Amino acid sequence: MVKSFLIGTRNAAPHLHEGIEVLRKGGSILDAVEAAVTGIEESTESGNVGVGGSPNILGVTELDASIMDGTTLRTGAVAAVSKYVNAISIARKVMEETPHVFLVGDGAHRFARAMGFKEWDLSTGRTRMIADVIAKDIAEELTDDFRGKEYYVEMIRSRKLHEWYKKLSDDQYGTTNVIGMDSKGNICVGVSTSGTSLKYPGRVGDSPVIGAGNYCDNRYGGVACTGKGELSIRLLTARMTVKYLEEGMSLEAAITKSFNEILALNDPGSMQCIAVDKNGNTLSASTARESTHWYMDVDMDEPKERPGIWVKAD
Ligand code: ASP
Repeated sequence: MVKSFLIGTRNAAPHLHEGIEVLRKGGSILDAVEAAVTGIEESTESGNVGVGGSPNILGVTELDASIMDGTTLRTGAVAAVSKYVNAISIARKVMEETPHVFLVGDGAHRFARAMGFKEWDLSTGRTRMIADVIAKDIAEELTDDFRGKEYYVEMIRSRKLHEWYKKLSDDQYGTTNVIGMDSKGNICVGVSTSGTSLKYPGRVGDSPVIGAGNYCDNRYGGVACTGKGELSIRLLTARMTVKYLEEGMSLEAAITKSFNEILALNDPGSMQCIAVDKNGNTLSASTARESTHWYMDVDMDEPKERPGIWVKAD
């Protein structure tokens, strides 16, 4: 029997104890994962999650999040949420209070309001500064000839988007992943992000797409991804990794297979993940660098860093 624990990405480490506290008080593994992710969403530390999360090309922070319950395979997800900070909790409400699994944009806002969530200004000095830089960059090209011609303005935005994307390093990604397992082997995965910096408005990444950036099943394990969501959406990386566990592979073999599939796409951008198997083994991986993840169980006072693997192209 494993001790109940949480693992998370680096940005989750300072908030794992918030989830562990919930477990100590008898809360469920879903409550614990939600609490840890909420801690990150409501702080400005990350720069890519919740308040202060990187803005889109119009200077607006749009949040994506999902939660999955490995006991029932129920899930909830939201995307393009710009008026509320508690994306993971709204996602959980989608799972528990609606017959749906995924709400986006205005529909997600309407639902959040109905559920009594508090509106939140997600901008900070940093996001406003980024928005100003973008606006100036576009304005410089908008000569009088273009004014009022939305089509051309959109073309300029689109070209700028490509230019910025080329310059984007992995530092522009920073989703938070938290996976929990209780002593009975119940797994929950929570993922929350503002997505790729300077994304096109309405762009949705892998974080809220169940199967791509989030998946778990108590019988096999759980996986959460960070990195260029356009890659894992194409391959359903989280789901496939759990499938490889189901087929009997070790955690390391399953992740290695999935990440080799990412590398075989031969597209720019990298993928990272954290994962657990049904026995409570944990691992993280990256296609781009050394990887670590953070572990904390109910008997620990502090989270501890654990090594992961670097899956490189052959
Ligand atoms: N995976 C996220 C996305 O594509 C970005 C990230 O991990 O930072 O939206």
